[in-house]
Amino acid sequence: MPSFTLQEVIGITQAKVVSQDKEKFSDLVSDTRKITEGVLFLAFKGEKFNGEDFAAEALKKGAAGVMVSLDCAEEKIRECQGTVLQVEDTLVAYQQLAKAWRERFPQLSVIAITGSNGKTTTKDLTAAAISARGPVLKTQANYNNEIGLPLTLLGIREEHTAAVVEIGMRGFHQIEPLAKIAQPQIGIVTNVGETHMELLGSLENIAKAKAELVEAIPAGGTVILNADNRYVAGMRNQAAEGVRVLTFGIEQLADVRGEAIRTEGRMTKFMVEYQNERHEYEIAMVGRHNVYNALAAIAAGFALGLTAEEIHDGLKNLEATKMRFECQTVKEWQVVNDAYNASPMSMTAAINTLSELTQGRKIAVMGDMLELGSVSVEAHRKVGQELAEKGFAAVITRGEMGSYIAEGAEKGGIAAVCRCASHEAAAEKLHEILQPGDTILFKGSRGMQMEKIIDLL
Ligand code: ATP
Ligand code: MG
Repeated sequence: MPSFTLQEVIGITQAKVVSQDKEKFSDLVSDTRKITEGVLFLAFKGEKFNGEDFAAEALKKGAAGVMVSLDCAEEKIRECQGTVLQVEDTLVAYQQLAKAWRERFPQLSVIAITGSNGKTTTKDLTAAAISARGPVLKTQANYNNEIGLPLTLLGIREEHTAAVVEIGMRGFHQIEPLAKIAQPQIGIVTNVGETHMELLGSLENIAKAKAELVEAIPAGGTVILNADNRYVAGMRNQAAEGVRVLTFGIEQLADVRGEAIRTEGRMTKFMVEYQNERHEYEIAMVGRHNVYNALAAIAAGFALGLTAEEIHDGLKNLEATKMRFECQTVKEWQVVNDAYNASPMSMTAAINTLSELTQGRKIAVMGDMLELGSVSVEAHRKVGQELAEKGFAAVITRGEMGSYIAEGAEKGGIAAVCRCASHEAAAEKLHEILQPGDTILFKGSRGMQMEKIIDLL
């Protein structure tokens, strides 16, 4: 457990001591439901939520101390019986403590992953690829932000040989501070695509923001870059002196190069050439995009000095992550649940993968891709066109932007196109048009919860 003494907490966060009782904390907790005996409870403030309302209760439940902000209401502090600390910003304090905890393990290899698409998948693949060396800590689910990253790092234990962390971002100067907390020796950039256009406006800006991870890797470390994505490939110039650059790719020449890709059932097999040696790998995932994710993971394995056999065995044992191109049978239909999230790049990846996999009739149930800003309308129309080009038989859309997918599909010549006002209406429409043996792709941004339509089927 990440234990700290009161003196350590004060030294790291410059906290002001309001009242002093217990002087040792067994863990740091910000989630009120996770408060247990002996922990330090850090009260975060959100738009709709103020953790300070739970400070007194936390102490009653056995917390050894609470940390609140300097502007915490007097009466809330008066209710607290026990050690009470105050800092300007409890979230910053949490990050400082997580950084200090990470620094207690200087031998630990930390691998950080960013990119527009495929971070979580690459994170899981990387953790699997390097598992031969011993226990690997990884980001749980998608905890990749200013709270999730520190939470992950506080999970570091003596037995871990490596930690694989996902770093997300929406704008400039978000990766940089998170990288300072995690202090990775290896940084992976999966790709650059249109995901956070709303804030960043252009692909050049997105690339610039992602490059903050490359810049954060110190001499002696390694950056792993996608050679087939020109924005990522260009980041090689941003690596500091003494940093090794390892590229991965399929089309362009790359240090870790994938070839002879083939799908066998739900497995994908491919060859990888690295330093004049060729080895075969297999993953329990489909789609060319996942080969890219696996190549990044394999490169990380090589960067850490693992052998091809070790990496192969680690990858083989990984199960596919939920709602990321998850194939299932529902009644007499094949359902592909890729509803976890959507961006233009991942839409294309999903449409292409599905087309490669199935010879039968294909139906798409698509929702809005959110946060695309000014390119949104055009990006949605393009998805509709792609569905038409790949021969989809029918398209059902949800959401305001989704109707532009419908427009693109109609223009492309798909006859059966339906804009639905609710998930229920979409399920009803599906029941109307589905034939036995059809394959249905569900995809949209997280906020659209497209997977709920599968439940309605
Ligand atoms: P988020 O920003 O939501 O955390 P992420 O970057 O972690 O997303 P994943 O969760 O791994 O990405 O994958 C999300 C979706 O993106 C998948 O369902 C898949 O369709 C698509 N995807 C995954 N990897 C790639 C890739 N390398 N290139 C393009 N699309 C991809
Ligand atoms: Mg993710």
